[in-house]
Amino acid sequence: MMQRTPAAPAPTQQEDEQRIVTPKAREEDRVADRNLRPRRLQEYIGQDQVKQSLSVFIEAARLREEPLDHTLLYGPPGLGKTTLATIIAAEMGVNLRITSGPAIERPGDLVSILTNLRPGDVLFIDEIHRLNRIVEEVLYPAMEDFAVDIIIGKGPAARSMRINLPKFTLVGATTRLALLTGPLRDRFGSVMRLDFYDIDATQTIITRSAGILGIPISPVGANAIARRARGTPRIANRLLKRVRDVAEVRGAPSIDEAIADEALAMLNVDELGLDEIDRRILETIINKFDGGPVGIDTIAAATSEESDTIMDVYEPFLIQLGFLQRTPRGRLATRRAYEHLSIPLPQSNDIRQQSFFEDA
Ligand code: ADP
Repeated sequence: MMQRTPAAPAPTQQEDEQRIVTPKAREEDRVADRNLRPRRLQEYIGQDQVKQSLSVFIEAARLREEPLDHTLLYGPPGLGKTTLATIIAAEMGVNLRITSGPAIERPGDLVSILTNLRPGDVLFIDEIHRLNRIVEEVLYPAMEDFAVDIIIGKGPAARSMRINLPKFTLVGATTRLALLTGPLRDRFGSVMRLDFYDIDATQTIITRSAGILGIPISPVGANAIARRARGTPRIANRLLKRVRDVAEVRGAPSIDEAIADEALAMLNVDELGLDEIDRRILETIINKFDGGPVGIDTIAAATSEESDTIMDVYEPFLIQLGFLQRTPRGRLATRRAYEHLSIPLPQSNDIRQQSFFEDA
């Protein structure tokens, strides 16, 4: 077997939160998320298919003077699910109530949210796959019949009472569609998938954000940031602000390609947007497990990351880049991953077969 350098020390949870390219919201993003969030569908960049369907559905609901059908949005973090919920409420001219799966601990919490909604309101539940089952069961009649059943009293005297709710729209968001139970998924009238943004759309988002924040930037500067933003608007906005800091320190009048390159190199983000942790995950698969296939839990144990974090945060982008493949036997590092990390391809294993097929 070929001797290779051991993978660098394992990343920790805390490191994940500190990553400059994590798609999850960090403390510094909260204000930006609010200020930079597009408010109307027309301002929402990219995701053309989702936008097109939504605009038809919204128009139809408005004509019928009915609330929009319950809508499920899924895709990796930072792609604009919360933003779309905000836009749906604005386009429908109704209020938005935001909560999340883990925040609703008991059925009573959900009943109180539901009974306080006004007709037509949008209820946004982020991370809806993390609702616990008992709470989820309250949602079924609420979504289907606009009613909740509550139990009054205890023991033999207990009886069930039905409370009618105003008609509302539930917008659910999840990073992991597969974790949703069948009955919950079936109750959504439409299910929409958000994809990573291409470089053009990401560049447009950066240019728009720079305009709002008053940051001078050239098109090539915006493009240099877009190429490393992992197709994720939240990351694009965060990188933009970091690059601005460097431009200011350097006394540069605007962000050009050289400043963007310098700043991103300082942040250890490579030309594809990978950082230290992505590289460690790939190196672990390649160096410790001969490139795979290796199960997600084994990768998690070897990198001290949680399987959920790997599946939600790292893996989708590595798959999108074609560096990682999901096979029935586990994750496989692809030939491209070896090439990107400048690790020589092994003489014989699945990779060689795979590269044979790729070349064919
Ligand atoms: P999610 O809920 O999927 O994690 P958010 O809706 O919070 O993502 O989006 C993160 C940030 O990215 C928003 O604050 C917004 O500034 C920006 N953003 C998301 N989608 C778009 C878009 N289509 N156009 C412009 N900016 C966007």
